[in-house]
Order: sequence, then structure tokens, then C-alpha cells
Amino acid sequence: MTGKILISACLLGRPVRYDGKGKLLAHPAIERWRKQGRLVGFCPEQAGGLPTPRPPAEIEGGFSAEDVLAGRARVVEVTGADVTEAFIAGGRKAVDMARNAGCRYALLIDGSPSCGSGFIYDGSFTGKRHAGEGVTAALMREAGIEVFSDNQVDELVERLNMDEADPAI
Ligand code: SF4
Repeated sequence: MTGKILISACLLGRPVRYDGKGKLLAHPAIERWRKQGRLVGFCPEQAGGLPTPRPPAEIEGGFSAEDVLAGRARVVEVTGADVTEAFIAGGRKAVDMARNAGCRYALLIDGSPSCGSGFIYDGSFTGKRHAGEGVTAALMREAGIEVFSDNQVDELVERLNMDEADPAI
């Protein structure tokens, strides 16, 4: 068995998002990895103890995950509830899961305050995005797990092809 990939559970179509839906990502590589048993689906927000459905949440004030992890910013729901601890707990569980399953790569959906790796929303709940990452993506990178977004499946394929220890895809 070649290396595994931790993937946002919603990208597999699992109904784990805040709105109770999934967001299936159709791509031949994902279908191939799924058949090979290489994908480890995980939802950090559920793992952190949040219910589904749940109110949408964003990192406040235009900050990013590094600010959350440094205690300079919170993750807040549109209701105003502070869900920072649940987001951090879920992100840590995602890292544990990745390590335990032998995942050196993660494929995470962009834009999420957990899974975003290229952009996130600014905390105003008005659809304004900015460059930054979510809490789980940041913790993954800190742990040495390479993070790719749902827009970077082809880059992940290339990365795997370059990985001498993991050439068979
Ligand atoms: Fe999907 Fe990640 Fe949000 Fe869970 S936390 S619903 S896996 S984007």
C-alpha cells in the first residue's frame, strides 16, 4: 500500500458541512485513490464536537489561523458564539488521524475556517475573502503534512509522482 491522503470529508460527499450537505469533488485521481483505499476522510469541525448542521463560522477580524493559534483572534459563529476551542481541538485530532494513518499529504477544501489553505473569509459574514488559512490546514502544515486545496488535485498528483517513496499512483 502506498501513502495515504487525509481528505476533507465533505469532498467525499459526506454530509458534514455546516449546512448539513457535502461538497463532492469529482476528479479521476480522487476516484482512483478512493478505490485504492488511500483516502482518509475526516471532518475536523465534527471531530471538535460541533453538531451538523451548525451555524457558519469565520475567523474574526480578517485574521488567519496563525493568529488564532497565537491567541490573537477567535473563530466565531454568525450567532456570535466563540467556537475557537472546538476548531483547535478538531484540527489537532485531524493531525493525530493523519499521523496514525500514515498520511503525508492532505487534500482540504479551500475557504473553510478549518480546512482552507489558500483563502478564508474575513469574519464579516459578507462573503469577503482574503489570503490565509484555516486552523486545521495550519496545524497540518506545522506538523509537516503537505496541504493541497481542492483546486490543486493535479498538483498533488504531480507531487506524488515526484515522491520516490510513493511512486505508484
Ligand atoms: Fe468540510 Fe473541513 Fe468543514 Fe468538515 S471542517 S465540513 S471537512 S470544510
